[in-house]
Amino acid sequence: MTGADKSFDVVIVGAGGSGLAAAIEAARAGGRVLVLEKGEKIGGTTGWSVGSLTASCTPHQRRAGVVDSPDHHFEDLGQFNAGKGDTDNLALRRILVDESPAALDWLARLGVEFVGPNPEPPHRVPRMHNVVPSSAAFGYHLSRECRRLGVEIRCSSQVIELLTEAGRVYGVRVKTADGGEARYVARRGVVLAAGDFAGGRALKARYFKTEVVEAAPVNALSSGDGMLLAESLGARILNGGTANAPRMRFVPAPPSWMHRLPPNRWVARAMALGWRWLPAWLMRPFVMKFITTALGPEPTLFRCGAVLVDPDGASIPVDPSNIALHLPLTPRNFGYIVFNERCADQLRSWPNFVSTAPGVAYAYLDDYRRGRRDVFHEAPTLEALAEATGMQVPLLARSLGERGAAGAGPFYALGPVRGYVTITEGGLAVDTRHRVLGLDDQVIPGLFAAGSNGQGGLLIEGHGHHIGWAFVSGRRTGRSVMGTLED
Ligand SMILES: Cc1cc2nc3c(=O)[nH]c(=O)nc-3n(C[C@H](O)[C@H](O)[C@H](O)COP(=O)(O)OP(=O)(O)OC[C@H]3O[C@@H](n4cnc5c(N)ncnc54)[C@H](O)[C@@H]3O)c2cc1C
Repeated sequence: MTGADKSFDVVIVGAGGSGLAAAIEAARAGGRVLVLEKGEKIGGTTGWSVGSLTASCTPHQRRAGVVDSPDHHFEDLGQFNAGKGDTDNLALRRILVDESPAALDWLARLGVEFVGPNPEPPHRVPRMHNVVPSSAAFGYHLSRECRRLGVEIRCSSQVIELLTEAGRVYGVRVKTADGGEARYVARRGVVLAAGDFAGGRALKARYFKTEVVEAAPVNALSSGDGMLLAESLGARILNGGTANAPRMRFVPAPPSWMHRLPPNRWVARAMALGWRWLPAWLMRPFVMKFITTALGPEPTLFRCGAVLVDPDGASIPVDPSNIALHLPLTPRNFGYIVFNERCADQLRSWPNFVSTAPGVAYAYLDDYRRGRRDVFHEAPTLEALAEATGMQVPLLARSLGERGAAGAGPFYALGPVRGYVTITEGGLAVDTRHRVLGLDDQVIPGLFAAGSNGQGGLLIEGHGHHIGWAFVSGRRTGRSVMGTLED
């Protein structure tokens, strides 16, 4: 490789949603762009996500007759954060709600299909949009556009150092797939888009208690590299200790032929059209079978009388404020949610959904029965359920009896579930042009951050705001580093 091959206008660290969005905008602004990805393939946590994106004033809302505005979205997002103190970054929240509609349009023009809008109180109107056929569609369409624009994407390339001269970041040092090293120059700047630290033990131990440190990451590549790299230059992490963790999640579905279908426009359109015109009973199982992510059971299950048990059937305590709190501290971080017919009956309609899910928005018990047989177990008696799941009958009977949940069959078990850290919320302090701030809040020249890396203290509870932020901030950062971001 020649020196010229190693010199770019923009080097982006991470090929998830924010990194690919930044790459596209930087390339459209005329930049020569390199994206370096630590994993063997692109996608990041974005590709693991449920894929909901919450936005106002979308074509989907207009079609459904929903009248909405970014101002209302701004207020409603504040409701999600109520009681969390005043650590929010309102300037970034303003950017998120103002630019989410354009981000959704932009994704749609690249070929990404959404269904919705779906309700999610306290949003006053339905504004959650769900990608179809799965969140793999983000990486598929964005990397195609990158190729079209001549963006270079190198996988198995982990950035291990930011190169500086006179305080300015001018490039990166990289560990390559063959165990060697390479250096790349970024004339205009380096964009950190390397995701959160759900899989980063050192950062987790700095901010969280043992149950979070021990919880499994959904995406083990989210090791906080971007934040550690920036910290070495004096940057700081805001809201590092904020995470709804551990979170209970079903283990992901084993890959099937449906997961191998390309998430292209035709598959997605067929699904979106089917969704609009075919009866729900026909579409929902089909959509559920497509899901590749780890879905998260809702606390509702336990309010309806379900119990959490370990693989033997012994009960695991469930804390109402965080249903997964005790799970990672059990020897195998592995359990089942067990309940009787009385509870099951409540899980068949709004508002008692089992989980959110891409495409269907809210998945009920019957969606799991028809579409997720790998985590759905039903038996006429407790003994039969114990046999099907490998549990011990006396332990299981005692666990249900303690909660007054024995009753009459049939009985159900959903699982395995594990305690995961799905994401962490801490992000680098940035300004509204996504430049990373260092000591005394001074801009670190040549260093930018997007997505989780550039979350900047923004609180984005609720579904669909993290993906929104990844694309809004990614697009803006790509323009900012090229000097084309308007105020
Ligand atoms: C199970 C699950 C479901 C979710 N569902 C939703 C949802 O429906 N809606 C929503 O809004 N949010 C959801 N989220 C959160 C959302 O997916 C993330 O917050 C968002 O995608 C983060 O995007 P990103 O671009 O910042 O990071 P990522 O998409 O994680 O991209 C970062 C990339 O950087 C790479 N990388 C890391 N370190 C290095 C390095 N040193 N060198 C090179 N590359 C590196 C990583 O491998 C990764 O590919 C979900 C998360 C999980 C885990």
